[in-house]
Amino acid sequence: MPLLRLLGQALTHPLDKHLARCLLCGSGDEVQAGVCAPCQHDLPTLGHACARCALPLPETQDRHCAACIQRPPPQAASVACWSYAYPVAQLVQRFKYQRDFAAGRTLAELAAQALYPHIQLAPRVDILVPIPMHWRKQLIGRGYNQAQLIADIFGHHWRLPVAPGALRKVAASDSQQTLTRAQRRKNLTHSFAAEPQVQNLHVGLVDDVITTGATQEAAAQSLLAAGAARVSVFALARTP
Ligand SMILES: [Zn+2]
Ligand SMILES: [Zn+2]
Repeated sequence: MPLLRLLGQALTHPLDKHLARCLLCGSGDEVQAGVCAPCQHDLPTLGHACARCALPLPETQDRHCAACIQRPPPQAASVACWSYAYPVAQLVQRFKYQRDFAAGRTLAELAAQALYPHIQLAPRVDILVPIPMHWRKQLIGRGYNQAQLIADIFGHHWRLPVAPGALRKVAASDSQQTLTRAQRRKNLTHSFAAEPQVQNLHVGLVDDVITTGATQEAAAQSLLAAGAARVSVFALARTP
C-alpha cells in the first residue's frame, strides 16, 4: 500500500485502529470488545462459586460456602465473571487508578455477555444500582465512579434501567484495606442510605470487585431496609 494512503487511513481512522487492537496482546485479529479471541479464552473465568457471595468453591454439589451457611448475607445472590487474577486484576487496576476507560469498558462488555444467563433467571432483576462512592472521594480522589460505568454498560446490554441515585454513601468510611472482616462490616453498616424508589423491586447491585463482600453486604442491607424486595450482586471479579 502506498505510504500516503496508509498515512491517510491512520489519520482518518485513529480511533478504529486503536479499538481494533487487543488490549492485552496488541493483536489485530478476532478482536471483540477490545480483547482478541485467544486472550478472551485465557481470562480467569470464576467457575463454581457460592451462590450467595460468589466465593470460589471446589467442584462439588455445594451451593453455598461455609460462611454463608453459618450466617447468610443480606443479598439473595452474587455472581462475578472472573477470578481477580492476572490479567483481569491488572485491567481493573488500570481502569480504577489510571482512568483507562477502554479497559473498564472491555471488562464490563465481556462480563455483560457472560453474566446474561443470570439476568434471565426468575425473579427477574427490575433495576440496576451501582455501589456509590462518597461524594468527597469522587470530587477529590478518582473523580468518577467506576461501578456506575459498569452499571451503565450492564444496563445497556440487559435493557434494564440504572438508578445511580437510589443508593448514597453517607459517611466516608476509613480506608478499608487494613481492617479485618468484622471491623469492615461494623465500619460500613451505617455508611449507605437507599431511596424509597427501590421499594418492592429486585435490585441488581453492581460493583467492580467483590473482595471480602462487606461493602456489598452493607449496601444490600440498606436497600432491603428501604423496602427492596430482593438484592442480587453483579461484579466483574471476585478475590479467591
Ligand atoms: Zn490478545
Ligand atoms: Zn458464600
